Amino acid sequence: MALKKDNQSVDIGDEDFPKDDILNLDSITSDKKTGIKSQPLEASKGNKNENGFLDFGFNQSILNSLRNKGYENPTPIQKAAIPELMLGRDLLGQAQTGTGKTAAFALPLIEKLADNKELNAKVLVMTPTRELATQVAESFKSYSSESSNFKTVAIYGGTDYRNQISVLKRKVDVVVGTPGRIMDHIRQGTFKIKGISCLVLDEADEMLNMGFLEDIEWIIDQLPENKQMVLFSATMPNEIRNIAKKYLNDPAEILIKSVKKETQLIAQKFLFVQRHHKLDALKRILELNNEGVIIFVRTKLLTISISEALENSGHSVAVLNGDIPQNQRENTVDRLKKGFIDILVATDVAARGLDVERIKLVVNYDFPFDKETYTHRIGRTGRAGRSGEAILFVNQREKHFLRNLENSTRTKIEEINIPSNKIINEKRMEKLIENLNESYLNQEENEENKALIIDILDNLKDKHSMNESSIAIAAINLVIGNKSFFVNQDDSWIYKQNNTDRNRSNRNANNRSRNSNRRNNYQNDSFETYKFNFGKFDGIRVANIISSICNSTNINGRSIGKVQIFNDYSLVDLPKDLHRETKNKLKNIKLRH
Ligand code: AMP
Repeated sequence: MALKKDNQSVDIGDEDFPKDDILNLDSITSDKKTGIKSQPLEASKGNKNENGFLDFGFNQSILNSLRNKGYENPTPIQKAAIPELMLGRDLLGQAQTGTGKTAAFALPLIEKLADNKELNAKVLVMTPTRELATQVAESFKSYSSESSNFKTVAIYGGTDYRNQISVLKRKVDVVVGTPGRIMDHIRQGTFKIKGISCLVLDEADEMLNMGFLEDIEWIIDQLPENKQMVLFSATMPNEIRNIAKKYLNDPAEILIKSVKKETQLIAQKFLFVQRHHKLDALKRILELNNEGVIIFVRTKLLTISISEALENSGHSVAVLNGDIPQNQRENTVDRLKKGFIDILVATDVAARGLDVERIKLVVNYDFPFDKETYTHRIGRTGRAGRSGEAILFVNQREKHFLRNLENSTRTKIEEINIPSNKIINEKRMEKLIENLNESYLNQEENEENKALIIDILDNLKDKHSMNESSIAIAAINLVIGNKSFFVNQDDSWIYKQNNTDRNRSNRNANNRSRNSNRRNNYQNDSFETYKFNFGKFDGIRVANIISSICNSTNINGRSIGKVQIFNDYSLVDLPKDLHRETKNKLKNIKLRH
């Protein structure tokens, strides 16, 4: 970490967010230097460490809202940016979402507008997307929730003008919006901009990528000349530097070298998959993790076909693409946040700025166009200090893109395998057992259910002469249902593909050693294959075979390997070196339907 106070450039290294000892800006935030209104703050509480935001000089309402949000310490970007913005300086910040940059600019602006009585907006924040506009506006609202009469509105395309016009007629402190709609309102005179004293450009590089540069310049030219300007961008291409040079006045520069930091909590992985196996591979991945997932695809059409396929497989899934009306998109994100849906299939544009803490997995179903898109996509997980996983699908032709991506992000992306039947079946079994155990523990706590269950047990025992173990078997059978519990589709393509890919792959020695380890796992020689004379024609399912084996022998279900069912016979991988007695029992096995 290097901290250079003299030229206003603060360079924060790769420390974790939000570490308290990264910056010591006491001298910058002293009363003399800031000239900030001297508030008693929470000082009466005596302990300065109770709230790491005390040093900034925020009013009590802001401190209360921060306490409500559970923020204890400022993040590095907040430590660096807030004092500069409180001074009224322009600011050029390189930081990505997830670093706490929204609060870094929102809090000082809310503080400054504490006594604002004017009707028209004082602050304009421009964002590339509607989603980010909503998110930033929500942040302003929550940070000002304890401040009286503080109003923030979000103005963006795709929603009704009339509503926005009537909101803009009333008292408003902060307008957050997308460039197109802001321009429309300025042109129509429905957004009065004479009073704007601060302009924030958030995710400026995204605005540039989306072709908003001209619109932004037009808007800047309409605004009063004398204003504070804040520009945040995840990357600093020349065009952004030029905008900064042209419009910012002696800005404080803050750099959070956070590509690494942002993605540190995200386990980045890839798997090789041929195009025609992608959907199957995706379904297999979702077998292991299907709660809080975003799948990125290249086209709107694909979002629909994939979500339909996943829905047919029993997942709760929704689509986020540019054709979906804005209110529906907001509704979808809200449902994802609340857990009513688990999986989102999205295009890049529609998912920009999406901040949903419960996202645990990002699947790059289609290879991203560039490094920025990749970084943005995977940043949808690992939010607010949580860990996450990102899986990238790579086909034969995309191998060199993978290498470029690893080089440009300076990250090693770990190779994984498409989950085989064995892995999936183990997971299903594990989940079922976990659920049963949880259900048992839950009913213990629920007196009403407990009484009902005892009633049912008595009933089954008296009327049907069932004992407890047969009742348990019946209940588990009911949970499993009629569908086959274990997957038994042919998964030989996974092994073949991995071996072919491995042969073709020229990846470095490190990779080669990783691969050979994995190959040992496939050719698991702790199994022996047994043939049984029943198959599809006998109406047999994998679950029947496993339960028959377990019931007739002392073999544990977990130790049974691959089960393949053919028309009139089945092959089952069982542990090698079984006892002779067990082998005899296997010969006389009775099929349990
Ligand atoms: P942002 O980079 O503004 O998108 O913020 C990323 C996440 O960090 C959001 O969920 C914020 O609510 C959260 N956050 C921002 N500042 C803090 C803080 N000082 N302490 C804890 N969480 C924070």
